[in-house]
Amino acid sequence: MSRVSTKSTLMPDAIRVGAFTVEIRSTAASWLEVGNHFVTTSVNGCYDREKHVIYIRPDASEQIQREVLLHEVLHACCWVAGLGRDSVSGKDEYDEEAWVTRVSTVLLGVLRDNAQLAEFVRAGS
Ligand SMILES: [Zn+2]
Repeated sequence: MSRVSTKSTLMPDAIRVGAFTVEIRSTAASWLEVGNHFVTTSVNGCYDREKHVIYIRPDASEQIQREVLLHEVLHACCWVAGLGRDSVSGKDEYDEEAWVTRVSTVLLGVLRDNAQLAEFVRAGS
């Protein structure tokens, strides 16, 4: 297991996003699992909304892992908030202001409910 850590901060194994528990995986084995489920592994992380799992590339730098984790948490927030593209047109069905308003509300709850996540993403800055 190769979790990013600092002296006092470990990447959390799971977080709460709204009513859901989202697992966080950052091991080499879990990254191979990503390769089996997604077209490319040329990204540093991804959110599997069907499994409620965030995958973080284990060989990325600590700074990248923190940024990518928060990025993937926002994807989870979007899913929980019901944001996404119109299934017929493929166009965005929300504007940026609405997106920010909704996501910031959800993200604030996530950071309040997951002290370890907030501490982890803030470390190293
Ligand atoms: Zn993304």
